[in-house]
Amino acid sequence: MLHDLLNRPLRNLRLSVTDRCNLRCNYCMPEAEYVWLPREDLLNFEEISTLVDIFVERGVDHLRLTGGEPLLRRNLPTLVSMLSAKAGLNDLALTTNGILLAEHADELHRAGLRRVTVSLDTLQRDRFIALARFDEIERVKDGIAAAARVFGRLKLDTVVIKGVNDDELVDLIEYGRSVNGEVRFIEYMDVGGATQWSPARVLSRQEIILALTERYGPITPIAEHSSAPADRFTLPDGTVFGIISSTTEPFCRTCDRSRLTADGMWYLCLYAARGIDLRAALRGGATPEEIREIIARGWQNRDDRGAEVRLGMGERRAFVPIASLRQDPHLEMHTRGG
Ligand code: SAM
Ligand code: SF4
Ligand code: SF4
Repeated sequence: MLHDLLNRPLRNLRLSVTDRCNLRCNYCMPEAEYVWLPREDLLNFEEISTLVDIFVERGVDHLRLTGGEPLLRRNLPTLVSMLSAKAGLNDLALTTNGILLAEHADELHRAGLRRVTVSLDTLQRDRFIALARFDEIERVKDGIAAAARVFGRLKLDTVVIKGVNDDELVDLIEYGRSVNGEVRFIEYMDVGGATQWSPARVLSRQEIILALTERYGPITPIAEHSSAPADRFTLPDGTVFGIISSTTEPFCRTCDRSRLTADGMWYLCLYAARGIDLRAALRGGATPEEIREIIARGWQNRDDRGAEVRLGMGERRAFVPIASLRQDPHLEMHTRGG
């Protein structure tokens, strides 16, 4: 097992399969125009499979498919069946906005996918349109219903923004209960792409707990020893929910995840300015052994703790200026996969 300079193991990989998306969430893709990764640069399934094999040899046992919107990647179930056959992977999951999930849920399950997270920020149609720019709430709900039927249970991820959807915490918990979905509230992060971010728009973990305590009564933290980003809690009736407090109480100290973009750039932190170009190595003829070495060197030199560094800054505003995002789309959250 590889460890970085802060003694964190390499265990989790988030694999982005496309930078394209069929929504324009205000906290992720608020701009009118985007620069896309060149199509010829996207890794094909064989290349992805080769790299995943090497990551698994180096200790990765949790893999999450993401994007952009991963269900826009053509023939995704074929990739899922290639990945689910890998002996070293204990966990294969998917994060999606849910729009195309009803269409693909059965096939993804047959291909070996067992865990799905759907992003859902509001239950209100008008608000969904204002937040994500497309009138797709019904298809998302159909996708969630399909996921509940096919996978039995699911997670629902909600980015909470003050003055936008912070009055829906209870409604989302209740909805989650009705679809066997565990809701996880995510603090609004000042990542690349979140050009509308400001500290005043962040609803903090403390505020989320306070609001839910007012409605439900005492909330009990669940004691868990895990590197998972969400802290989980139980309501008095036993309902479980999570909070991902990346902005006000970051968890960099236990962070064992890295990210591979659809064009094969490997990022060791969500906030990293630079990545390691594994596509160039692969297409340049590097042997698996050489790529193993690149990955080992990269991880062993890692000391990133981006969210903690951001928290330590005095005045805080959007992380990357728009001009820089246009110059290098790898800085975007939708390219890094969230
Ligand atoms: N399109 C898929 C989806 O939305 O689920 C997968 C990719 S998306 C980039 C992955 C996750 O990143 C989503 O759950 C989204 O809510 C989260 N995300 C994007 N921008 C964010 C921000 N500024 N703060 C917190 N979470 C964010
Ligand atoms: Fe929204 Fe996900 Fe698309 Fe970003 S990548 S705009 S979070 S659906
Ligand atoms: Fe990990 Fe970087 Fe996120 Fe911290 S900011 S939890 S180091 S990815």
